[in-house]
Amino acid sequence: MNILLLGSGGREHALAWKIAASPLVTKLWCAPGNAGIAREAECVALDIADHAAVIDFCRRNAADLVVVGPETPLAAGIVDDLARAGIKAFGPSKQAAQLEASKGFTKALCSEFGIPTGAYGRFTNAADALAYVRAKGAPTVVKADGLAAGKGVVVAPTLREAEDAITKMFDGAFGAAGTEVVIEEYLTGREISFFALSDGETAIPLASAQDHKRVFDHDEGPNTGGMGAYSPTPFVTDEIQAEIMAKIILPTVKGMKARGTPFRGVLYAGVMLMPDGPKLFEYNVRFGDPECQVLMLRMMSDIVPALLASCDGQLKNFDLRWFDEPALTVVMAAKGYPGDYAKGSRIEGLDDAAKVEGVEIFQAGTISKDGHILANGGRVLNVCATGKTVAEAQRRAYRAVDRIRWPEGFCRRDIGWQAVEREKRGG
Ligand code: AMP
Repeated sequence: MNILLLGSGGREHALAWKIAASPLVTKLWCAPGNAGIAREAECVALDIADHAAVIDFCRRNAADLVVVGPETPLAAGIVDDLARAGIKAFGPSKQAAQLEASKGFTKALCSEFGIPTGAYGRFTNAADALAYVRAKGAPTVVKADGLAAGKGVVVAPTLREAEDAITKMFDGAFGAAGTEVVIEEYLTGREISFFALSDGETAIPLASAQDHKRVFDHDEGPNTGGMGAYSPTPFVTDEIQAEIMAKIILPTVKGMKARGTPFRGVLYAGVMLMPDGPKLFEYNVRFGDPECQVLMLRMMSDIVPALLASCDGQLKNFDLRWFDEPALTVVMAAKGYPGDYAKGSRIEGLDDAAKVEGVEIFQAGTISKDGHILANGGRVLNVCATGKTVAEAQRRAYRAVDRIRWPEGFCRRDIGWQAVEREKRGG
């Protein structure tokens, strides 16, 4: 098979690494890719927002399958456009991608199909939204309806902060994403990420994974796209997995099908584990980054048949196998991230770092210039490792981090701490 992968981050490097390992693959391209992906795939300088150009590339090169990494092209309908051109693509249609592209859409789906979630209101003007929060009180959560690069959610501990967030959103702080605002009940409990693969009819769970959103150790500082992740997480037991499948994932798949907009692709649910059961607080419609990196390291099965089964509605009797060994990834970011940061600094020692036992390094924001790897984004490297325990994977990952010479970068030193502490207690 000839496969075209779309995207340029660490998630796509991990997907490229896993897809390239499939005996089914003859040729793998990645558009636009990055310096690390270039080791697994031929990078092509396509503008993935230009669907006609992507279709033209697929036709000229006889691509059999397109795998879409990030949410933006999904929400823009690239899978629909490819399907119309007769090209198979992994990921949801534009209508199904609304599960991520519109928070109000997801809340309405939850109401219609009895999926547990927090109480909410949807608003298209500030006056009504302000009246609602004043009636409900704080803490509360204010969300821009649309895609806002992970920045459109304000958890407001006080009424004042909620009012400020509402005013800012309707003043255009998130552009078109904030013309509708969702106000949601603040949920307290343990937050977990849950991944499932759907073919429009049914869904199968993927391995569990936990990310670390805050930029500094001890979960301090501002939220980021994710500073590290590990898999499996001790907090998603078999019982909790079964409950989330039965109460959240499968009703979503059935509801989307009943509405005539079946969901195919990866469903990534943000779930709060509460005393009265799990509650959904958001959906994403693709693999998480950096959770994907640890999932790919733990996936024993060939991924390509799984992607095809999702596209073709064949997941019913499908079985994905996973390695028991935990995996962990440490994100190395440019100093200043998630705020302003410089690009262009040189990264050395990657080959030496990759020699540490169990280590695999995926690249995110990198470019190659004159034989050197240069930082080219906020999140730059994913230093991943497997081990017999999360603690061993963590030790190996940091041993590799310490071999990387990149003074302009930084990372958290405590990725996986919850699982490591639990292992120490013998849990
Ligand atoms: P998001 O940008 O949608 O991933 O949301 C950012 C973070 O906001 C999540 O990771 C949660 O920690 C938090 N969050 C979102 N919705 C709620 C909610 N209803 N209750 C409590 N926390 C929430």
